[in-house]
Amino acid sequence: MVDNLFREDLKDYESYKVEDKGCKVVLDANESFLNFPEELHEQLSQTVKDILYNRYPDAYSSKVCDLYLKYIKDFYKVNININNQNIIAGNGSDELIQMIISAFASEGDNIAIPVPNFSMYKLYGQIAGAVPVEIPLEDDFKTDVNKLSEKVNALNAKVLFISNPNNPTGTIIDDEDLIRIIEKCNCIVVIDEAYGEFYGKTFIDKIMNYDNLIVLKTCSKMGLAAIRLGFLLANNKIMEEIKKVKPPYNVNTVTQEIGALVLKHTDIIKGNINKITAEREYVINELKSINNIKLYPTYSNFVLIEIDNAEKIYNDLIKNGISVRYFGKGQLKNCLRITFGNRTENNSLISRLKENLNK
Ligand SMILES: *Cc1c(COP(=O)(O)O)cnc(C)c1O
Repeated sequence: MVDNLFREDLKDYESYKVEDKGCKVVLDANESFLNFPEELHEQLSQTVKDILYNRYPDAYSSKVCDLYLKYIKDFYKVNININNQNIIAGNGSDELIQMIISAFASEGDNIAIPVPNFSMYKLYGQIAGAVPVEIPLEDDFKTDVNKLSEKVNALNAKVLFISNPNNPTGTIIDDEDLIRIIEKCNCIVVIDEAYGEFYGKTFIDKIMNYDNLIVLKTCSKMGLAAIRLGFLLANNKIMEEIKKVKPPYNVNTVTQEIGALVLKHTDIIKGNINKITAEREYVINELKSINNIKLYPTYSNFVLIEIDNAEKIYNDLIKNGISVRYFGKGQLKNCLRITFGNRTENNSLISRLKENLNK
């Protein structure tokens, strides 16, 4: 009887599965391989002790938002003249993606998603009863601005989601093309900069120049995946719409306080990012010495590689306790996405790949 109450449109819908394959070397989720130093951990413990657990969190996450804006100015060396009216925090940027869709897409509205791309855009689109329309990228995952914007406008899409650098390809769209996309597309253009720290560029300084631009950021890839903290930045008019759908106390106090403390330590964050990009350089050089691998250029903390027998190699890696991301279908059929780990982890990966491919 209860079956009659289930949503017809979600009948064939599969829940998002996070599998633990029991691997010791985890290079499949684009996390940072670095934890924070001991002295910061001690301060974090003190912060957690001092929290007023009987009270609701700050509904606007004001302190952590202010510190995030400061962090952005320092990290990206941009002049941003925006205040806390133009930023909101989310329980991970995942929650903010969901808010964007709730705010701008009603049932049946099209959402444009160039693919390959981050899978959550489609997932939240479907849950909202909107229609996610996937638009394949060109060869080598390049974007043809005219073609894309014509499609987006023909679809009458409400929202266009771009991850830049792209997950899972690691590639970028350059600034000029991004600006053309924002200007040509008659919809909300979301630039998801989850990997911005590894690229070194941001569009946050442009949110006031365009009426349709939203920039998304997250602390997950820079070493704070555990606390779930993301940010959305946009002009005042867009913000008014987003606030209509924002759950009142969406970011818990522990996350706000830990985020605030860590964001004061830009030096530690920068140091960790530098260590990750140094591993990127090392891994890329090693991969170049292996036969029959196509490497896509990466501006991220992971690299996408294309090989003939991706499934076989993926299974060999799992058997050897190394987990990478395997897609197994479509445009990414022969691709593996590999997050950079520490030197020992990277060497384990490289030696398995050499074993398999340098024959
Ligand atoms: C990891 C990732 C996110 C998710 O970030 P959370 O803040 O952890 O929810 C968003 N967008 C892209 C492109 C990502 O790869």
